[in-house]
Amino acid sequence: ALKRMPRENEVVVACVGDITAETWFSVLADYPNVSVYLPLGVCDKCRNTGGEDILGEAIATAEEWAGTGMGLEVDPKSLKCHKRREYERKEYMEKIARTTGLTVTKLNPATAALASVTQKLKAHRHQITQLERTLNTMCGTTTAKRRRTLTHGRQLVLSTLQNHPELAQNMQVSTPECDFDKCTSCGECVNVCPTFACDLVGSGRFALESTYCLGCGACVKVCPEHALKLVEHDASNLVVVDPEAEEKAAQKARAHEEAQKVKAEAKAKLDKMLDQVEKLAD
Ligand code: SF4
Ligand code: SF4
Repeated sequence: ALKRMPRENEVVVACVGDITAETWFSVLADYPNVSVYLPLGVCDKCRNTGGEDILGEAIATAEEWAGTGMGLEVDPKSLKCHKRREYERKEYMEKIARTTGLTVTKLNPATAALASVTQKLKAHRHQITQLERTLNTMCGTTTAKRRRTLTHGRQLVLSTLQNHPELAQNMQVSTPECDFDKCTSCGECVNVCPTFACDLVGSGRFALESTYCLGCGACVKVCPEHALKLVEHDASNLVVVDPEAEEKAAQKARAHEEAQKVKAEAKAKLDKMLDQVEKLAD
């Protein structure tokens, strides 16, 4: 659709319908100034005719979650490489090059953009690995020692929310709630759960690790006692505290406190000296 080399703030994708709401959400949360270029008539020629609809739905969801809008351009003339955006992109890429030692080619913008996206994904991957480690320590396996699964989409959402916890209130997720008076602890729900998010703990009490729950409703459907129902709520419980970031913040706070103390002591000393000088002068 672009019919030319992408500029440094443009990334070409094979099919816009392939990009999930979770991916758009992570992009929008980090880059508030994003547009999709999709000229009219491109998707009409494709056999996978759902692309435009899927794109519209995914973007609408991502916009709601991120609390910000995304542009949609249909005219190639509106694809202006604004200086500010160009600068931000350049700065971002140079930062990556500085921190990773990566040589980003400036001769081929397509490769450069791709390299920056790859680097961003790598950084995400690192964060996700840390996140998985934290979650595994907290609640990674069920009582039957089955490893819980974090889907790729959920990983993206968790890492984005870790950086932007305030966005959790924009997201609506569904998780099952159990009526313990009806539950017979038969375990059917646990057997069908694709991510092992739910479990029977203690003497057979239904329990859920909502971070892993996809809200698919399989457990609700299979429950012979109709003890489960899906309940909608915001995504605050998907914000996983990053112990490393917390430690860094605590260290910063301690350093600030220490600096304030030293400053106060120095000021007190100086005041004392000035007093003495004034007395001598008298
Ligand atoms: S399927 Fe229903 S009755 Fe059986 S353990 Fe799960 S919630 Fe309880
Ligand atoms: S809604 Fe789906 S993912 Fe969540 S606990 Fe039930 S079966 Fe598992």
